[in-house]
Amino acid sequence: MRFSNKKVLVTGAAGGMGHVITRMLRDEGAAVAVADFKCNGLSAEVALPGDLLDQAYTDDLPNAAAKALGGLDIIINNAGVITRGPVTDTSDRDWDLSVGVNVEAPFRICRAGIPILAEGGGGAIVNLASCWGVHPGPNHAVYCMTKAAIASLTQCMGRDHAQQGVRINAVCPNEVDTPMLRSGFEKRGFDPETAIYELGNTVPLGRVAKPDDIADVVLFLASDAARYMCGALVEVNGGKSVA
Ligand code: NAD
Repeated sequence: MRFSNKKVLVTGAAGGMGHVITRMLRDEGAAVAVADFKCNGLSAEVALPGDLLDQAYTDDLPNAAAKALGGLDIIINNAGVITRGPVTDTSDRDWDLSVGVNVEAPFRICRAGIPILAEGGGGAIVNLASCWGVHPGPNHAVYCMTKAAIASLTQCMGRDHAQQGVRINAVCPNEVDTPMLRSGFEKRGFDPETAIYELGNTVPLGRVAKPDDIADVVLFLASDAARYMCGALVEVNGGKSVA
């Protein structure tokens, strides 16, 4: 029970990775406030539905979670969106959406959350970046750029706030079998089941990651076992490098 008495905020909690992260945290004793567009049907101590593009909602999320849970120790910035294509195919809407959800929202949540964690005696933040934020990936220019931005922000914040006892790290997965990956295959006219099987053959470990493969690393970084880690970008890729 690594998270007994720990109070946690998880964004994107209705998504492929978010609901597994939430379940695993609660299984290990955490009280969790979940955030997503809709939180109906999610098992959690507190539901804070809303749109992360709404600045007032996002600025207030850590405070709302702390108020409802009676404190806040850990924040998991997991929500994300993927937009596809090279820069020449990227609309203003794609740009605003990608930057808004993948960079501005975690920035706002960290800005509001770090003082709350510090006042409570310290804590941990885990951001979901991507292998594509550490190495350039093909045909997803703005997505990669947003993940590089949150990776860099993580490294900077990890350094700036260590002295307050707030450890900030990021997990950088390669492909994970979630609605984000499956919807991409569907949009391109592929059968997701076949595509994920074939993609698995390109991974040295022989399969695409499942959400719990990534959630295990998220929980490790959030736990006391990672007590000396600050500003780390941890690639979780089954041996498959992007470059
Ligand atoms: P997902 O699409 O299954 O879940 C993302 C969740 O974020 C959804 O529930 C969605 O509703 C929520 N969300 C998006 N925009 C929001 C907004 N404006 N307001 C509130 N909630 C919003 O995706 P996932 O695969 O579980 O991804 C989780 C994280 O992992 C993301 O940051 C993603 O970029 C990252 N990631 C995923 C993969 C992958 O292959 N699936 C690989 C590397 C990194």
